[in-house]
Amino acid sequence: VFLTFDDGPTPGITEWILSTLKRYDAKATFFVAGSNAARYPSIMARAAAEGHEIGNHTYSHIQMTAATQEKIDSEISRTNALIEAATGSKPKVMRPPYGAINAKLVSRMFNTYGLKSILWNVDTNDWRRPGSAVVVQRALDGAKPGAIILMHDIHSPTRDAALELIPRLKKAGYQ
Ligand code: ZN
Repeated sequence: VFLTFDDGPTPGITEWILSTLKRYDAKATFFVAGSNAARYPSIMARAAAEGHEIGNHTYSHIQMTAATQEKIDSEISRTNALIEAATGSKPKVMRPPYGAINAKLVSRMFNTYGLKSILWNVDTNDWRRPGSAVVVQRALDGAKPGAIILMHDIHSPTRDAALELIPRLKKAGYQ
């Protein structure tokens, strides 16, 4: 299964999730918002150094399908530059906010920036703050080989959910 955390990095939340991942020898993908990446490059650098993937989630979390070409390019390239500066590598994956994509955007992302569009198929809806136990249960209910689980490392209940979810997925035989 693929654990994905969007919108961070956030001090005290992303770092906690990184420690949990390390404890259970698990990897995740962090789709960072450039505005947070600019403030917390050291958290991104730590995530990359510990073997996690860093993806682009735009700079200002806009709906890219409603943006001009110029805005699309600036959202992608500013965030790419921040990721590369902090981690030493260009990102290979991008998750457009709200999952808003169209053919033109996907081809621009790939042809100009080499970014593959990655959405999700298990939505924990953690941003609605249902409580960490509900987030854990939704993730476990949706887990199957190849599942891409969406969470957000800007909410503290998600940090608590990760602490419970990761060992339970491992125990169920997932990597
Ligand atoms: Zn987002």
